[in-house]
Amino acid sequence: MEKLQNFINGSYSSPVSGEYMDNYEPATGKVYSLIPKSGAKDVELAVVAAENAYPVWSKMSIDARSRIMVKLSEGIEAQMEKFVAAESRDNGKPVALAGRVDIPRAVSNFHFFATAILHFASESHNMEGVGVNYTLRKPIGIVGCISPWNLPLYLFSWKIAPALAAGNCVIAKPSEVTPYTAYLLGQVAKEAGMPDGVLNILHGEGHDVGDAIVKHPKIKAISFTGGTATGKYIAKTAAPMFKKLSLELGGKNPNIIFDDCDFDDMMRTTLLSSFANQGQICLCGSRIFVQRGIYEKFKEEFVRKVDALLVAEPNNPKAKLGAVVSKPHMEKVLSYVELAKEEGGKVVSGGEKVQLEAPFENGYYLRPTVIEGLSYDCRTNQEEIFGPVVTIMPFDTEEEALMMANSTQYGLSATLWTSDLERAHRMANEIHAGIVWINAWLVRDLRTPFGGAKASGVGREGGWEALRFFTEPKNVFVKY
Ligand code: NAD
Repeated sequence: MEKLQNFINGSYSSPVSGEYMDNYEPATGKVYSLIPKSGAKDVELAVVAAENAYPVWSKMSIDARSRIMVKLSEGIEAQMEKFVAAESRDNGKPVALAGRVDIPRAVSNFHFFATAILHFASESHNMEGVGVNYTLRKPIGIVGCISPWNLPLYLFSWKIAPALAAGNCVIAKPSEVTPYTAYLLGQVAKEAGMPDGVLNILHGEGHDVGDAIVKHPKIKAISFTGGTATGKYIAKTAAPMFKKLSLELGGKNPNIIFDDCDFDDMMRTTLLSSFANQGQICLCGSRIFVQRGIYEKFKEEFVRKVDALLVAEPNNPKAKLGAVVSKPHMEKVLSYVELAKEEGGKVVSGGEKVQLEAPFENGYYLRPTVIEGLSYDCRTNQEEIFGPVVTIMPFDTEEEALMMANSTQYGLSATLWTSDLERAHRMANEIHAGIVWINAWLVRDLRTPFGGAKASGVGREGGWEALRFFTEPKNVFVKY
């Protein structure tokens, strides 16, 4: 059985504990590789390596740093097929999706920040007749990057790339549920000429190695993407140590559909915003509010189309949904379907497991599920399910839609469908979300601020926001 390894100081190594944990293939439910069970001692080794590498990396010319990162990006691209296959196998997502979205985006993340840093400038504030202020933007030092399982390399690289571009050394931990592509990344970084110790990748459980990263006094900033409960714990631990914190957390995003929308465009996109990646995208619109005039038409067509979505093993090129990421996650999603029924909901599509034939008979396959008849404030409509489950609810007025949309603790993203421009702007202004799409979903410009309000997080990633997060501003005043 293949044993994954940590990547510390430019080489692969076993965890200090010598212990490993099982890595499951969601498509078959079988263990297919072993993950290092790392802990505080491995973090210590990585911190020593990063400390030694920091003077080299932070003082390297921006141009040289940028070239190494461009090579890293090209290194992933050159092994596209290998990365795509690995991501799909580790996560359960269709190969086609990993090939269209996940790995190309990881390539872009490195390329984007490799070149963004060439244009990153700081401010100067002139005081007429008095003097001038200029602001230096220095790298922070050693930073920790912790990422989730839903878009493994995509979100891992979304943090690591700006951290490295800004001149920091990185201790990174991918999710223990999907570690494989992060494991492959070490070799690519090495071949790109990344100096040893600049990028260290540790594997293992959140409460063990993740916690040790958060608690290490020499790791000065933590960039975390994951669940809101984990984010809360990390904030509690890191805040008294005065670490810089970026938290990208859960969501329960509204998809608000007005009866004046472009129906066909909305329907096509709503199928994706509901079930892409088995509904396991933090930006999926899991609460669908439909204006009463088109509610029945919407329901009839949506349910028919959802019923026709093919759930299949990830290598099937026709698969619209693959396997969800793990058995516990599948059980969690199914438990929410039961809860929805207890709360008075009616399952109008899906709601159960899909039984595939051997060798996929023990894989984690769920039918995309649509539930109606629930109140906006029941648990099913307030808690994050993070699977292929959406609820549909009618509304009459803009005010009512807004009130229901804003009723959760979350505020990550929102989608609006309307042809009334004034209404679109009015709603976008009032909705509690860090990201609003109007007549679109998941269109991403890497320069824009990315993140959520309320319990969906603190801070923003993307573009200058990420480079500002991974640098420490220092203002210098010079008297005339
Ligand atoms: P999770 O919080 O369980 O784990 C995320 C990462 O944190 C993993 O690497 C895990 O090992 C680590 N971790 C867990 N406990 C830790 C601890 N005590 N200290 C340090 N690290 C710890 O989340 P998940 O189940 O992997 O991911 C799903 C969640 O991520 C969902 O809530 C989803 O909405 C959220 N998410 C948010 C965004 C966003 O941009 N806002 C993007 C993707 C996913």
